[in-house]
Amino acid sequence: MKPSNHPDLWRDALPWPGPDTHKHHRGRLGVVSGGALRTGAARLAARAGLRIGAGLVRILCPRDAALIVAASVEAIMVDEFSSPEALFQLAGALDAVVIGPAAGLTEATALNLAALGRTGAALIVDADALTLFKDRPKDLFGCLDRDDVLTPHEGEFERLFPDLPVYGREVAASKASERAGAVIVLKGRETVIAAPDGRKVVNGNGTPLLATAGSGDVLAGMIGGLVAQRMDSFDAACAAVWMHADAASRFGPGLIAEDLSEQLPSVLRGLA
Ligand code: AMP
Ligand code: MG
Repeated sequence: MKPSNHPDLWRDALPWPGPDTHKHHRGRLGVVSGGALRTGAARLAARAGLRIGAGLVRILCPRDAALIVAASVEAIMVDEFSSPEALFQLAGALDAVVIGPAAGLTEATALNLAALGRTGAALIVDADALTLFKDRPKDLFGCLDRDDVLTPHEGEFERLFPDLPVYGREVAASKASERAGAVIVLKGRETVIAAPDGRKVVNGNGTPLLATAGSGDVLAGMIGGLVAQRMDSFDAACAAVWMHADAASRFGPGLIAEDLSEQLPSVLRGLA
């Protein structure tokens, strides 16, 4: 029988704010933005991180994108950086960072990831920051710790792990997690979450409504928001995948990625 994802596995590990909680102690999440024409993915991820309870969320922007991002966010803060070293400095004050959504398939993204790998922040690595390393996956894995999370869809997975057949998704995700030394979220109709220590679950509440632009960016932000709040990365990935699908299932056709985060307060209330 498949080990299936269920709130009973992680409900008790969800972070709830206590009476003396301060926003600085409630998880500080950063999301790296792409350039001027590619800022939406970071905004989707950042908003999801905030909605899932991170106390402070910042979008970290290349200079050309900063004013565009700043004009379109309210509770999310914006920092600009012009070098990997500057990004490294900014990330020193963060608990988790999402990198990859619309980041660009450029060497700058690779250098930014390497700089983030030298900080204490947990990394959620998605999209371009995965594909970028298709010919040199060890360069990516060398930047990771065991509490980091990779969130490939099948195409991204196949590019990074060409020898692991995705038709055996559960085995493939486990082997990939061991090889990468990080948690793997192999997305799709039945998302598989695997940790390097052998933990693994298959998610069953997915809906094809999630097959829409930007929904993966929202998931990355949700995982980042939970990890920033010090939830174990495997538990955070399981919880985020389930809640992401639960939020989607409250809609019908016409769901767009922007809608998902707005349902999270209600999804969370149902788990309290
Ligand atoms: P991405 O491809 O990065 O935008 O991520 C898409 C998100 O939607 C992932 O969380 C997938 O697991 C989910 N998803 C895509 N297609 C389906 C589907 N047919 N059934 C369930 N979930 C899906
Ligand atoms: Mg994606």
